[in-house]
Amino acid sequence: MFLSTPIAQLTKIGKITANKFKKLGIEKAEDLLFYFPFRYDDFSQVSLINNLQIYPIKKNENLYSSHAQKNEISNEINSIVTIKASIELISNKRSPIKKTIITEGLVSDQTGKIKVIWFNQPFLTKILKPGDKIYFSGKVESDFYGLQMINPSYEKALWKKETIHTGRLVPIYSATENLTQKQIRFLIKFILPLTKEIQDWLPKEIKKDLDFFDLTEALTQIHFPNDKKKLEKAKERLKFDELFLIQIQTQQLKKFLEKNKAPKIDFKEEIKNFVQSLPFKLTDAQKKAAWQILKNLQKEQPMNRLLEGEVGSGKTIVATIAMLNVFLNNYQSILMVPTEILAKQHFDNICELLKNFDIKIGLITKNEKKMNYKLRITNHNKNIKLKNHNLSLIIHNSNIIIGTHSLIQEKIKFKNLGLIIIDEQHRFGVEQRNKLKSQTNSLGNKQMFPHFLSMTATPIPRSLALALYGDLDLSIINELPEQRKKIITKIVDQQNRQLAYDFIKNEIKKGRQIFVLCPLINESDKLGVKSVTTEYEKLKKDIFFEFKIGLMHGRLKSKEKEKVRQNFLKNKINILVSTSVIEVGIDCPNASVMMIEGAERFGLAQLYQFRGRVGRSEHQSYCFVFSETSSVKTKERLQALLTAKNSFELAEKDLEIRGPGELYSSINKYGSTQQSGYLSFLKIARLTDYSIIQNAKNWAIKIINQDPELENYPKLKEKIKKIQRTICLE
Ligand code: ADP
Ligand code: MG
Repeated sequence: MFLSTPIAQLTKIGKITANKFKKLGIEKAEDLLFYFPFRYDDFSQVSLINNLQIYPIKKNENLYSSHAQKNEISNEINSIVTIKASIELISNKRSPIKKTIITEGLVSDQTGKIKVIWFNQPFLTKILKPGDKIYFSGKVESDFYGLQMINPSYEKALWKKETIHTGRLVPIYSATENLTQKQIRFLIKFILPLTKEIQDWLPKEIKKDLDFFDLTEALTQIHFPNDKKKLEKAKERLKFDELFLIQIQTQQLKKFLEKNKAPKIDFKEEIKNFVQSLPFKLTDAQKKAAWQILKNLQKEQPMNRLLEGEVGSGKTIVATIAMLNVFLNNYQSILMVPTEILAKQHFDNICELLKNFDIKIGLITKNEKKMNYKLRITNHNKNIKLKNHNLSLIIHNSNIIIGTHSLIQEKIKFKNLGLIIIDEQHRFGVEQRNKLKSQTNSLGNKQMFPHFLSMTATPIPRSLALALYGDLDLSIINELPEQRKKIITKIVDQQNRQLAYDFIKNEIKKGRQIFVLCPLINESDKLGVKSVTTEYEKLKKDIFFEFKIGLMHGRLKSKEKEKVRQNFLKNKINILVSTSVIEVGIDCPNASVMMIEGAERFGLAQLYQFRGRVGRSEHQSYCFVFSETSSVKTKERLQALLTAKNSFELAEKDLEIRGPGELYSSINKYGSTQQSGYLSFLKIARLTDYSIIQNAKNWAIKIINQDPELENYPKLKEKIKKIQRTICLE
């Protein structure tokens, strides 16, 4: 057995079970060792039967309920007991009332007897026999006949053998795919000796200074802690590991940027005239952000800046100002965006904004490559007018290139790159960002490195942004253009659905347009989520038959998508039924209602983005939120959408309710959630682990300052390489 042994070849594992593990991203033994428990049940105190007491039973209580927070020990320590007892009798009987099978046992220790009961697990009589010594963990209750334990966890007490399911701090894994806790625990226990073979890459001086466990011990204790103290120590070490690896990379990037020169982009007077000529007045926050960026571009060191701003706060124009200034200095800019729809929209908008300049703008997506300018290419002696410009022609001839990640997937050599902007950067993984950065380093740009600006509407609190992305500079647009009205948001109960429809009809009659947002494309998923196509059919046939309805989802051909988008912009479509593909993109100021179905399926940050599709003009706008669960937690989350004053407050709220992992997750095109960027890398660390983040950062700075290439830390160096390799392969 090795760290690299596939799960299917481990003991007693069938193909089916191995496949279930695979769905959790666990393919080999090593992956399993890094599949950490998300909490623990404290079954460590073994009680004598005559000391047992009855504890009042709280509502909604459940042994494996998800009330406890990530990586925490269950709070209900006191209401759960463990006993070690021999089985005296055990048998199955049929319940007279329902058709359930009840397994009843009588068990005893040297001090007394107690009844144990399980429902619908008749096989237990085959596993547990009279005379067996067993640990039982669970809740004690009393009925007419005395004390009893209902559905306790059980585990044979074998001489000299450590228990793993009872009588200790028991790890609880976020099991899905029908894997049981017992299966996971059993397997992890089985492969635990392999922890000895894992390279401990953390520098010795750090371990010594922070009094950390070795990796082997940390991994052993995180799964099967001897006690709470050791568990805490294990967590500290493993959290540190994750955060430290991020910080090392951030510091390396910083060093790299410091070493490199960037083209100096001078401020040009034309920018002033351009801003004057805009159809609107820039907000103060926009002016400030633009000014910070322009000043930063004048330096000869590459800019590394994040522009954060609410949805609809007008980041595009700020980016456009920067790109215009770069053009006026005779350098190229790239604007990279996550979706084709958004790329086209930016292309249209920016071509319009810059129409008075002699500036060449190219669009590059998987399906479309074009320019705002017809090139005349001389091919030998013939003049050939190219309709569909090819990639390298566009790249060589454009001053501004707008595109999706097609921009980085092909072998592209840029000519004279001065600025890279990534829009909606949270949608890109860190790997894509790095790829772009490294690729541009090898430009024909005479050892010059372009300036770098990323933009996001996903609210990342400042402290987190700095912790995650290191010492980058931040510009924040914290206000919306003046004439905007606050969007009126309502969580609508199913019985009021008709009212919402009536309201929408009225809005359309006033000339407004409507978005209806649904989570998935097909109704194949068993969660009963609204499918966008069925919803579209339903609305068309039964509800809004007098209006024009459009359909938009990720599986449409790009030409079709573009047609729908154009028709919506021209108000040839009254209602656009769509999946989350419009999360970023479609700027249609005339739209006044955003109706969201199945809202529980989306993260708060994402809902916030959807809502930001309306309220982009002087018209009063509305957001109607429908959800299909009545869970309290969901209600609480959606409520936050009503109360939070801005996206930052909302982010804090989401952080509180769901934890950081989910804050930046989004639903991918297959409908499952995925995390983006660095966060997918954090398994145990939380963004709220401020002191560990600080420690990790200090150490990373120290080490990179002394030894930027990590020559004296070969194991660490190899670990970083390995991470970057796996990230690139994705
Ligand atoms: P986001 O920050 O979400 O990317 P956009 O850049 O798409 O926002 O801008 C949203 C809308 O607001 C666009 O229609 C844009 O033309 C408009 N806009 C931008 N700045 C202003 C402003 N200062 N005053 C009025 N409208 C503006
Ligand atoms: Mg935008």
